[in-house]
Amino acid sequence: MQQVTILGATGSIGVSTLDVIQRHPDRFSVFALSSHSRVEKLYHQILTFEPKYAVVATPQQAQKLQAQVASQGCQTQILAGPEGLVAVASASEVDQVMAAIVGAAGLLPTLAAAQAGKRVLLANKESLVSAGKLFMDAVRDNGAELLPIDSEHNAIFQCLPAQWQAKQRGPLFSKGVSKILLTGSGGPFRETPIAELANKTPAQAVAHPNWSMGQKISVDSATMMNKGLEFIEACRLFDAKPEQIEVVIHPQSVIHSMVQYSDGSVLAQLGQPDMRTPIAHAMMFPERGQSGVEPLNFADIAKLEFLPPDFNRYPCLRLAIEACQQDQESCTLLNAANEVSVARFLAGQIGFTDIAAVNGEVMATGTDIRITVLDDVLAIDQHGRALAEQFCAQR
Ligand code: NAD
Ligand code: MG
Repeated sequence: MQQVTILGATGSIGVSTLDVIQRHPDRFSVFALSSHSRVEKLYHQILTFEPKYAVVATPQQAQKLQAQVASQGCQTQILAGPEGLVAVASASEVDQVMAAIVGAAGLLPTLAAAQAGKRVLLANKESLVSAGKLFMDAVRDNGAELLPIDSEHNAIFQCLPAQWQAKQRGPLFSKGVSKILLTGSGGPFRETPIAELANKTPAQAVAHPNWSMGQKISVDSATMMNKGLEFIEACRLFDAKPEQIEVVIHPQSVIHSMVQYSDGSVLAQLGQPDMRTPIAHAMMFPERGQSGVEPLNFADIAKLEFLPPDFNRYPCLRLAIEACQQDQESCTLLNAANEVSVARFLAGQIGFTDIAAVNGEVMATGTDIRITVLDDVLAIDQHGRALAEQFCAQR
């Protein structure tokens, strides 16, 4: 029986993970669940899954929730704050940790899971983008197993040579791989006249044509910063250089990414746009099992289209690729700036095109901090957030 901790259980990925777990009661048991603000939703999850622990943001919330669950005869112990998250991510009983907190807030517990040598199911791309090599080193040095949940990276993983999958390390390009083709739908504004983008509202930006996701990643999909973060994520996960990754717009989201080999073969992974497929793949790897996702019906798929990205439409994608080409510090800084600018956009305080403008201003300002230890990552993250707040306030 695999014991699973879900960090960010009340979010879109957390709920899909619980759906997969419910289909395999003989295989998985929930050790811990966490939520930041949706305590009511967490309460219902606790009563259904009866985890050993649950984690909320503050001691006050924990105390209240503890009384509620106890009154229902439930034994779950409620913890609070970042210490609680780290404890349930690294507890000795745990086999797998689903890292599904949104943003760099997920970094410390995800890193703790890697340091404790767990199977880390990585949805929280921001933590890898922010910490980069430090995170990958923690995985390697502690014998952790890192399996990508992001649908593109999970697709790429599935298309890689079996020897690489088994060990999950080393440059791919010695194994006959010539390119990673990272696909993305282009989001809800793919055909919107560029001049109209400035007036797009949060409600329009989060209405993704193919995927149902949390708010932040939905906005990132509209700006294609999501693909930019995924570009950086792919470089780190697969030990690839920026020139070995190509972004391809594929509006139907049927192909989830591809790997091109030196003999001319291209392998692709296809499926419904439903995160339960990559979640089930990673949780049961190297075996396969039910995810609840319907198979593709090829008669229904009229066509598959592919286009190059237009950087005038998606300046955030360009910023991310440039950051990836520059250095880790730029990636950490950009991720922090983007978390702030997206939050300000969602709060109605800046416009849609201000997101890229603010991110660009932060990148142009830069940082003198160099990363050698985790505190340097946290310092650049703080610096990027402070700069972005300042530039947002000037808009
Ligand atoms: P979401 O907003 O639906 O859920 C986020 C979860 O994180 C919630 O449980 C929330 O309580 C928790 N959380 C938020 N802020 C927190 C904080 N400061 N401290 C602790 N917990 C906090 O987001 P989501 O769509 O499920 O995405 C989660 C992660 O997975 C993101 O990094 C996203 O990029 C990635 N991802 C999501 C999808 C998808 O389809 N939703 C696909 C690929 C990758
Ligand atoms: Mg993705």
